[in-house]
Amino acid sequence: MRRPTAAERFAAKVNTAGPLPLIRGVLGPCHVWTGGTNDKGYATFYVAGRTVTAYRHAVEQADGRPIAPGLEVDHRCRNRACVRRSHLEPVTHRVNILRSTNHVARRAAVTHCPAGHAYDEANTYRAKDGTRKCRACKRAQNRARRAAAREQELATVAPLTTPTPERQAA
Ligand SMILES: [Zn+2]
Ligand SMILES: [Zn+2]
Repeated sequence: MRRPTAAERFAAKVNTAGPLPLIRGVLGPCHVWTGGTNDKGYATFYVAGRTVTAYRHAVEQADGRPIAPGLEVDHRCRNRACVRRSHLEPVTHRVNILRSTNHVARRAAVTHCPAGHAYDEANTYRAKDGTRKCRACKRAQNRARRAAAREQELATVAPLTTPTPERQAA
């Protein structure tokens, strides 16, 4: 059997139907790495006898040349697991740091959830990825789920049968 090429092995570890980044100018879904990651959570790919970061490899393969020395790869989609070339941009360390601080600052500047509830201490909890979540919205979601379940239960109750004349006689 023919051994798969590096490009084929790489493609087999990518889910091209990833989430859509809600960031201006970053188009199309993320291509999410499903292969290995290192202890820092960065995507890794084993090629030509060594382990490289998968997104650097993706950029170099797409461009057909190595990333210029000293440059880091910025995830414009802010999704570290993404290896889609159009979401990645080689930048200097300074720019990379600046962009991520800006992103954090922009997020912190958002004081209310999309439904208008305040992100205050009592109403805020953290999702696994560290983003803020709204308790009021969560409660509303739970209520809606319970209501839907109740509706479902009522709908599956067997219809009342009218007693047959024989049974009435007995
Ligand atoms: Zn992406
Ligand atoms: Zn809310």
